[in-house]
Amino acid sequence: MDQVQFDGLSRRVALQRWFGAITGVALAGVAGTSAWAAETKLAKSAVQYVDAGKDEGKDCDDCAQFVPGKTARDNGTCKLVEGVINPHGHCIAFTPKPKK
Ligand code: SF4
Repeated sequence: MDQVQFDGLSRRVALQRWFGAITGVALAGVAGTSAWAAETKLAKSAVQYVDAGKDEGKDCDDCAQFVPGKTARDNGTCKLVEGVINPHGHCIAFTPKPKK
């Protein structure tokens, strides 16, 4: 079976290269977005963060996004919110830790 030639390339090879190039650009875009998301956190004011939560069981140290400090009493950080986070703080992005 004869294959159509495009500048010395078969149509199949030309399509494979074109698809590979498009896929590479798409993946680079996704990777760039993920890196941006990992580096960009929300401002405390955007999520109404407070250093002392009012509802028991809904403090930052009860939240799946909280990254504890050295001890349970130390301030930590948050995967979503910028800056130092009080373990007894709270914000509207509170996400309960999964039950074990
Ligand atoms: S998402 Fe909000 S409640 Fe959860 S740890 Fe971060 S600041 Fe605290």
